[in-house]
Amino acid sequence: MATKVLKEMDGRLITRDQTRPVWVGKVQIGGGAPVSIQSMTITKTHDVEATVEQIHRLEQAGCEIVRVAVPHKEDALALKAIKEQISIPLVADIHFDYRLALMALEAGVDKIRWNPGNIRDPDKVERIVKEAKERKVPIRIGVNAGSLDPDLLMKYGGPTPEAMVESAAKEIGLLEKWGFEDIVVSLKSSDVMDMIQAYLLFAQRFAYPTHLGVTEAGPLPEGLVASAIGIGTVLAHGVGDTIRVSLSADPVEEVHAAKMILRSVGLRREGVRIIACPSCGRCEVDLFELVEQVKARTQHIVEPLDIAVMGCVVNGPGEARIADLGIAAGRGKAALFVEGEVVGTIKEGDVVGALVELAEKIAEKRRQSPDDRFEQ
Ligand code: SF4
Repeated sequence: MATKVLKEMDGRLITRDQTRPVWVGKVQIGGGAPVSIQSMTITKTHDVEATVEQIHRLEQAGCEIVRVAVPHKEDALALKAIKEQISIPLVADIHFDYRLALMALEAGVDKIRWNPGNIRDPDKVERIVKEAKERKVPIRIGVNAGSLDPDLLMKYGGPTPEAMVESAAKEIGLLEKWGFEDIVVSLKSSDVMDMIQAYLLFAQRFAYPTHLGVTEAGPLPEGLVASAIGIGTVLAHGVGDTIRVSLSADPVEEVHAAKMILRSVGLRREGVRIIACPSCGRCEVDLFELVEQVKARTQHIVEPLDIAVMGCVVNGPGEARIADLGIAAGRGKAALFVEGEVVGTIKEGDVVGALVELAEKIAEKRRQSPDDRFEQ
């Protein structure tokens, strides 16, 4: 079991599990490191050009570790060329054939992920573990409710959280027997409540860092809702060291979703957060249009910044005052707030321009004296 530590984030104390640190290339997972964001390419890995192009887009969106599927020998053979053209750590996703894991290690990948249900022969596992240990490459034990060992399914009567944790425990036992401890564990299920319980049960027993995810979460918005509840709940309990949101969508959307989840649980502060009311019969401006325009025109800002776009004086002044800047709208006009003070009244048509200009000024000020963007 990991030690619980208290950390301060924006004046709020949060509890985090202090897990064992594991290095995936240049990125630390666990051991108090910021919760990192992962995604997975959807290209054919052997198509090096398309895969590298997608990884560059993911990296630009904020992905910090990327995984590629390695189903065939030709994919394993492409890994070296991919690795040479990207700057974030590369993870090889292996199923069934241990020889592909050996080839991936030879190619210089930064982490191997396999599913204990899919490589069951201990001798084959030992071959991978010995090679990974020699190269100081960590391994993620990726337990998935959909591919548990039939013996465990029989023992627990199905893919229960307890069965998932026992699957991870068995594999950890094997790896530890060979002196291997650079382990990250995931316990994914498409059932959100099972996933939450599995991670929390695991954290009560082990100090290995965890990779959080709801598997096969589906398209937007369903997948985002399921992932936000699953990943967000586990993180709110102080558990989880790296996350991947699985969506049936462009993987760049997974990265955006992951950032939103980390923001919502107070583990990241980068970029603009729009605080906006849902509007109602009291509102006398086109609030949705204002929100959309402010959001679109501030996406380039990476410094942490809160902008309140509020429809009237009921909650408007309160929210605008505690944000970095904001408006409380009236009939065709709005009171403008900057860093807690009312600085004047502007016409509805000037709201977007004024907020964007002020946001850029505050961001520039923060660039000059940077805050810690990834406090935990
Ligand atoms: S802030 Fe005003 S306009 Fe917005 S939802 Fe509340 S009452 Fe309605």
